[in-house]
Amino acid sequence: MSNNVWIIAEQKEGKLKKVSFELLGIGKKLAEKTGGSLSALLLGQQIDKLTEKLDGYGASKIFVCDSEILANYSNEGYTKAIVDLVKAHNPAILLGGATASGRDLFPRVAARLETGLASDCVGLEINNEGLLVAERPLFAGKVLVDTLIPEARPQMACLRPNVLPVPERGSEKAEIEKVAVELQPQDLKATIKEMVKTAGEKIDLTEASVIVSGGRGMASKENFKILEELAAAFGEGAAVGASRSAVDSDFAPHDTQVGQTGKVVNPNLYIACGISGSIQHLAGMRTSKYIVAINKDPEAPIFQVADYGIVDDLFKIVPLFTEEVKKLKAQD
Ligand SMILES: Cc1cc2nc3c(=O)[nH]c(=O)nc-3n(C[C@H](O)[C@H](O)[C@H](O)COP(=O)(O)OP(=O)(O)OC[C@H]3O[C@@H](n4cnc5c(N)ncnc54)[C@H](O)[C@@H]3O)c2cc1C
Repeated sequence: MSNNVWIIAEQKEGKLKKVSFELLGIGKKLAEKTGGSLSALLLGQQIDKLTEKLDGYGASKIFVCDSEILANYSNEGYTKAIVDLVKAHNPAILLGGATASGRDLFPRVAARLETGLASDCVGLEINNEGLLVAERPLFAGKVLVDTLIPEARPQMACLRPNVLPVPERGSEKAEIEKVAVELQPQDLKATIKEMVKTAGEKIDLTEASVIVSGGRGMASKENFKILEELAAAFGEGAAVGASRSAVDSDFAPHDTQVGQTGKVVNPNLYIACGISGSIQHLAGMRTSKYIVAINKDPEAPIFQVADYGIVDDLFKIVPLFTEEVKKLKAQD
């Protein structure tokens, strides 16, 4: 068994996810402590160009699995490719992103490798015995636990996006190793026939640095426009989210739902507008760096987790907020 650390560099439609760089940053630190090397594993089709983008972040090697069969993410195909490679090289630690596909992929990979998986981590360290210590929020973020995988290998963990910084880029280049995938299309029990995209090129909520979220208090789909205007004032990296009540009432699309049954987000700034702060909503956003709540009910539970609270009518406050952000941005 080696001391090496591997990260899965996630890409979608030829674009690397930001969490891939966050993983390289922490992977490098962990490899320095285990005394091993850092490698990245890239899967997909026609992804050669992406290896250059991964250079300079500490990986000494990039394994590239380029195959038609991996063109679209599939649990079976990606699992087979990763498991075969891991068995051949025996890394001590295998890390991935707790993204939509990561949450689907890594439990199966861990089961196939008969090892443990610490999912949805917000911190990763190496202890005195050289073991990976994965910090995970439990009970909607009320408790943080340290998870260890003492016996089985590799020690696997999924990192929540947007929690750790993207490291400074250096000039070192990684060695590239192309790997063949021993898989035929007929080996996949499930195949993707069609990808239906939601309209517009929206930023992925899990990667947004600012999220303006609306709840039942928004009262209608049309009213979400004021949240879009506030997000637009923040500029690139800002997105609009919603509570489940808002989604169930058809005020906002399902892929914007934040919470236990929606997305887990970790922006620098989360602005909750007309959201009461149920335990299920908090499960998806309470680790945000700064939380601002706008609610006309001073007893709303959201104020217990908010860094800044405004007790007032959101329809009065949000447009004022937008104007102030625009003014500040104009001074930049
Ligand atoms: C198994 C399960 C899973 C769930 N998963 C999720 C999940 O993933 N995400 C999620 O969000 N919920 C989830 N829920 C639902 C959750 O329990 C709550 O029902 C929901 O979060 C409430 O949404 P809300 O805060 O928008 O609505 P409400 O609780 O109705 O709150 C609306 C708030 O808006 C305020 N308000 C109204 N008008 C104004 C105004 N003009 N100005 C300012 N404030 C105003 C009110 O004071 C109130 O606090 C789940 C529930 C269950 C049982």
